Order: sequence, then structure tokens, then C-alpha cells
Amino acid sequence: MNAEQKQELLKSLPLADIHRHFDGSIRPETLWELSETYYSAVPGLDFEQFRHYLQWDDNLDNTLLDYLDKFHLPLQYTQFYDNIRRIAYELAEDAYDDGIRLLELRINPLIHRRAGLTNRQVLAATRKGFSTFGKEHPDFKVGIIVIAMRNHGGNMARILLREVVGEKEEFHNGVGVVGFDIAGHEAPFPPILFKDAYSLATKMGLMRTAHAGESEGPERIWEALEYLGPHRIGHGTSAGQDKELIKRLAADGIYLEVCLSSNLHTGAIDKLENHPLRRFLDAGVKVALCTDNPTVSNTSLSKEYGLAIDAFGLSENDVRALAKMSCEGTFLADGCHCEFPE
Ligand SMILES: [Zn+2]
Repeated sequence: MNAEQKQELLKSLPLADIHRHFDGSIRPETLWELSETYYSAVPGLDFEQFRHYLQWDDNLDNTLLDYLDKFHLPLQYTQFYDNIRRIAYELAEDAYDDGIRLLELRINPLIHRRAGLTNRQVLAATRKGFSTFGKEHPDFKVGIIVIAMRNHGGNMARILLREVVGEKEEFHNGVGVVGFDIAGHEAPFPPILFKDAYSLATKMGLMRTAHAGESEGPERIWEALEYLGPHRIGHGTSAGQDKELIKRLAADGIYLEVCLSSNLHTGAIDKLENHPLRRFLDAGVKVALCTDNPTVSNTSLSKEYGLAIDAFGLSENDVRALAKMSCEGTFLADGCHCEFPE
């Protein structure tokens, strides 16, 4: 496919992104404006230097730490209701402009509470921004996934769940919480620590995903399957090393949320061609192509499709099937509402 054909094809498809983080998707321009208007995070910078605090640069960045450093600066501004609401609205707008018609946005409310907001207020601000955009664009559907940080431990995850259950989609008209996730440093915090939290999430009727097998090996994915009962796995990249695991994922219909640029930047893969995406697809594993953090990785979902087409030689039919499968992996109660051209 040449560049024009790719663009044409992607434009014709309703895209879905079901793995995208709030903090890694904020417009640099918005943070710059907030920095200029009322609180300068790093005095004396021009916009391009400021942008480097938020966005990966192949010439300057090369470690996992460089990647994680991009998440600090936004927190200076995401402690206030109005800012969170505005960012959620813009995030929906950016997704929509990229051809996305179904978005699941994940957020860890705890890290946005430094100015006194409660977990529920953080989620309410996010819902508000989304529902305002949704009213203007009825063909856009969005839901929220609540993240518990691994390093906060299993008990904190349960406390968080009890607080946020009132923000569930079904209790509100329109946008709400649809799922639960754990994220953060994998090695010291294995899935078993969150067994009780996931059974509580199940009891609460929340759908479940879990970051696993991103920086750690396939055993962490096996453990996630055993202890957490997830419908989907965030990344699951190291499953590529384990044929039995690939078979199991395919047999149980468990989705892998694949984020190519992010995996490259965090070091989960050394080059795109070595990502197991093609093997997952060939083995019948359900895959959703996602962005993870479009601002940090300086990408968009359509760019990620472009990367996948080039790296794995995807045909038009492959791309159509991948887009449809990505949408069908949704946790939204109404499912994938998109119509895909034959
Ligand atoms: Zn993620």
C-alpha cells in the first residue's frame, strides 16, 4: 500500500482505541497555555523545550526512564476540576479528528488529588469533558477505565474500587467507568497481589484488563490469567515468547491491547519488526491496536496503523479485520456500535 492508499483506507474505517492513558495524551499546547497563564512548571523554557518534557524524541531519549519522565510535568496542571474537564474534552476531540469513534480512556484518579479533589470528582470532571464532546458528536462513544497503581498495593486497589463504583457507566446517563486495570512497575508487584481487588471488580460488574508482559516475561501473563480473570491484557508483548500462552489466549478469546510505538520506546521490543503482532494474528489471538500514550510517543492511532501496515505487510483486509476486532474488544455496555464497510 502506498501512503495515499493507506490514508484513504484508514479514513474509511471507524477506528477504536481501547488502551489510552489520560496523562500521556494531553495536548502540549494546552499544558503550555496553562503554564503561561497561571503556573510556570519550568520557568524560562520556550515551547519546544517545554514540549521535550512531554514528548519522546528519538535523538535525545532512549531509556524506560526517559519515557516515564514524560508523565511528571502534566501532573502540575491536572489537579483541578476545570483543567481535567477541558483536557478530557480535547482528548476526545483529538481522538475524533484522528478517525476514532470509540475510545476507552484510562485514568488513575489518585494522582490528580493533590489540590483536594476526591477520586469521584476526578472521574466526574473526566466524564463531564467527555459527555460535552459526546453531545456535540453523537457518533463518538467513550468510556473510562480506572487504573490502580501496582506499587500502591492490593488493598489500596480495593479501597479505590469501592470509591469509584458510583461512577460506573450504568449509573449515569452516558459516560462512566466501564473497566478496571492495574499499571506501573511489574517486577516487584506480581498479579497475585491484586487477586482480591479483581474479584471485587468482578462482583461490581466491571470489565477487567491488566497491564502485563510489557517489561516482564510471559509468566506474568500466565499469573494475570490465573489470578485476575481479565478479559484483556495491556500489551502482553512477552506472550510472543511462549507458544502455549499464545494458544491459551487464542482459545479463551482474551484480547491483547497492542501499542507498537510505546513498546519501542519503553524497550519492550528492540525494533518494530520484532513485535509479535503478526504471530498473534496468525495464531488467532484477539488483538486491539492501540496508542497507549499518543502525546508521549508523538503518535496517533492512524499513525500506529500505518506502522503496523509497513512493519508487518498488512493487506487492506488485514487492516479492516484489525480495526473491527479492536472495536469489538470494547468494554462499553453497548459494544461496538461502528459499521464497517465490507
Ligand atoms: Zn498502558
